[in-house]
Amino acid sequence: MSEDCLFCKIVNKEIPSTIVYEDEDILAFKDINPVAPVHILIIPKKHIPTITDITDDDFELIGRMHAVAGKIARDAGIFEDGFRLVNNCRSHGGQVIYHLHFHLLGGKNLGGI
Ligand code: 5GP
Ligand code: ZN
Repeated sequence: MSEDCLFCKIVNKEIPSTIVYEDEDILAFKDINPVAPVHILIIPKKHIPTITDITDDDFELIGRMHAVAGKIARDAGIFEDGFRLVNNCRSHGGQVIYHLHFHLLGGKNLGGI
């Protein structure tokens, strides 16, 4: 838990969100400002600022977050057509919230990068 972290507050239910998946270590909720028909944020409950801050202890967690992305995609009906899983890292990567998260985007053809 980081005191000033928005996503830690969402984990602790101090700030409401539309939760689509939750387990002991992982939370997924709808992005407040969706850029695709399906836009879900998948986060670890543990405060990890960026993808570069993961340690050996987090490898299983990060792997499970990817498995959870597939499950959420299935539940959201975008599994067959496909989707994009994005991590923005630090300022040039467009990261605004410094609590690790993956954007799960889909529901339309997103094209190539
Ligand atoms: P970043 O730019 O850090 O990769 O992405 C942060 C994301 O968090 C943005 O897509 C933004 O719309 C979303 N976001 C910011 N504040 C809130 C909030 O209070 N609730 C939810 N559900 N999403 C938020
Ligand atoms: Zn946090």
